[in-house]
This record gives sequence, structure tokens and C-alpha cells, in this order.
Amino acid sequence: MATKKIEIVVPPRPAHFVGDGFRVHNFISSSYRLDMERMDPFILMDYNSKFYFPPSETPKGVGVHPHRGFETVTIAYQGKVAHHDSSGGGGIIGEGDVQWMTAASGVLHKEYHEENFSKKGGDFQMVQLWVNLPAKDKMSKPKYQGIKNQDINKYQLAENSGEIEVIAGEYKGIKGSASTFTPLHLQNALLKEGGSADFSFPESYNTALLVLEGNVSVNGEPVSTDHFVLFENQGTEFNIQTEKGAKVLILSGEPIGESIAAQGPFVMNTREEIKQAINDFNQGKFGYLE
Ligand code: MN
Repeated sequence: MATKKIEIVVPPRPAHFVGDGFRVHNFISSSYRLDMERMDPFILMDYNSKFYFPPSETPKGVGVHPHRGFETVTIAYQGKVAHHDSSGGGGIIGEGDVQWMTAASGVLHKEYHEENFSKKGGDFQMVQLWVNLPAKDKMSKPKYQGIKNQDINKYQLAENSGEIEVIAGEYKGIKGSASTFTPLHLQNALLKEGGSADFSFPESYNTALLVLEGNVSVNGEPVSTDHFVLFENQGTEFNIQTEKGAKVLILSGEPIGESIAAQGPFVMNTREEIKQAINDFNQGKFGYLE
């Protein structure tokens, strides 16, 4: 089996705030060599690296805003987030939980630190991905999957060296918990001291990883915490190893391969559809949310 080589290791860009509750490094969509097309179907990745939020009586976050044409996937590593949307979806996610919101034809939603977390303050670490939808599904009905960590299927690595949480897709026969519109894999590798894991994805899939905790070797090359690794679209196999323990997010997906027209919170196929989205939003067609 051919090794999937590293194309580039991307250090975290300077952080910026989304609303007042998410201090993120953007990796996908605006980084050098990581535009929306390059990681299709993953069209955005914002990473809130571990950051301490002091106690606040008013929960911090992002107020009501629309989305159309894709899915927002939030993975909580530390801290808690509460979500509400205009299609009735909502919930609280905490450490190890995942929120998979299909905006599709359009929702309004808001994303805030959960009330008690906010009052106490604490370390906060999250990833938000935008997963594109194919043209045929962009105007389908919104949907919400709140996935608790206990409901995420896990693969136990040999010699008690850790586990793979299979959020979506498959790892060595263990199926992911989230349903997806196109073939993709999303997994957390939780490696203990001396742990190691092998991965295999088709050449054509756009594949990357983000190191969340610890330091790892990827195919023998050292990669530090908060760094992102993009793989070439050649070869199928790669390996990650750690000496002292690590947590790594793995993503791999079949490119949708359609044209992308994006503006703010809307991601469609054409400029015409973007104009339509803006008109529909201005006319209140995305529903209502207080
Ligand atoms: Mn949003």
C-alpha cells in the first residue's frame, strides 16, 4: 500500500473572534493552499484552540444569524455550547460531544456558551467545520443531529494504546454515528503514551488532520499541537504516533466537485443562488428565532 505523503504542515494563523465567544484560528477557506475547493467537501474549519474564558454573567457567543447550502459541525473538546435554531433543533454539547446541523435550505441559529459554563468560566476548545452539500441537497429540509460522546462508536486500538472515536464514516469496520449526505470520515484519535494508529482513505479523498493535544509523528515527521496537516491526493495510508499521548482530529472526504459560490453564511453553486439566498433571508423566509 502506498503511503499518503504530507503536502503541507500549516501552523495556526493569528486568532480572531467570532462573536465574543469563539476565539478561532481559521485553517480551511482562507489559508494559503487551503481554499474551499482544496478541502472540498470541508469548506471551512475554525479552530478555537484551548483558551480560558473568565466567568461571565452574560453567556458569550454568536447571536442569531442565517446559513444556507451546507452543514455546520461543531466538535466540543472542552467547555460547553448551547445551540438553538429556527427549525426547532437545539441542545447543549460538552466535552466529546458533536453537533451536526444541516442548514440546507436555510435556518437561523445562535451559538452561545452554556449558562453554567459561562458563570464559572473555564478552558474552552472547539472545532467548527462547514461541510458542503451537493446541489441536489442544498435546498433540502434542515436537520439536527446532537451526538453525545457516549453514543459515538469507538474502535479500541491494540495493546490498550488508545481509541478512535468514529464520528462519521468508518474505521476498521466501526461505523460512524452521524449520517452524512456524501461519503466522508470524521474521527478523533485519542492516543495514550506510546500510542499509534494507522489510517487508510482513498487517494481521491481530500484528507487532513489537526493536532489538538500533544505532539505526534505523522509518517515519522514531527507535528506540534494546534498544527494542521494536509495530505497529497496520492497514496492511501498514513500513520500517527505519539510518545506522551495525543488527541488528533482526522478528516477525509470525497470531493463533491461542483462549483462553489460563497458569501458570508451562504454557500451555493452560483452567484444567482447567493442573491436568492440574500433575498429570501431579507424577506424572512429563513423562519424566526428570538
Ligand atoms: Mn453559525
